[in-house]
Amino acid sequence: MPINIAIDGTAGSGKGTLAKQLAKKLGFGCLDTGAIYRSVAYYMVETGVDLSKGENIAKAVKKINFKVVFEADENGNKVQKNILDETDLGDKIRTEQISLASSIVSQVKEVREFATKIQHEIASSFDVVVEGRDIGTVVLPNANYKFFLTASPQVRARRRLKQLSLPEENYESILEEIVERDRRDTTRALSPLKAAEDAVYIDNSNQLPEETLREMLSYIK
Ligand code: C5P
Repeated sequence: MPINIAIDGTAGSGKGTLAKQLAKKLGFGCLDTGAIYRSVAYYMVETGVDLSKGENIAKAVKKINFKVVFEADENGNKVQKNILDETDLGDKIRTEQISLASSIVSQVKEVREFATKIQHEIASSFDVVVEGRDIGTVVLPNANYKFFLTASPQVRARRRLKQLSLPEENYESILEEIVERDRRDTTRALSPLKAAEDAVYIDNSNQLPEETLREMLSYIK
């Protein structure tokens, strides 16, 4: 049975970076599940789906031609590619517009089923660190290890500002976007963002990434 490590957490908690670092350290693959929701959102935005109606989203997800593939890089690490209509989406899914759209489409049952199926296929194929919002609670409740990462909204807004190389004047709007996304992700009816009861909970507001990584590694035998 492949080993699965679940990492859930809020936007900007560093879970993406830490999942990649942890996977590298252990020689595992790393699955960014947010990228699947982002790719679905990208498809819907590009094809002009009216996102104000869940039924439109549910109908459109049936037509999507999407897959996740893993390609080995020069060091033999498995790197995730999100392929829509045979084209790698790359960073096109990393805009603020797609961030917001992804938190809307991810509320729809058919989208969650679509994304969860892909995640199950990958998690049952090889040792993998899977990061997202509902991994330890819904997607992989029997994961070998579970972590939940978060930090204060202010710290997370600062990190995002830096990550996107945006000037200081964008701070308030980034903070608002983070608070809004937290609200939507934690209050939605289906698979809301929450820590699994058996997850290791880490607030890394006052930690450097390497400190969080060390703490996570200390739990893995
Ligand atoms: O992690 P990331 O910010 O890329 O995720 C984008 C959005 O996708 C999140 O705000 C959330 O709404 C959704 N998502 C989800 N379940 C996951 C991963 C992401 O609902 N497992």
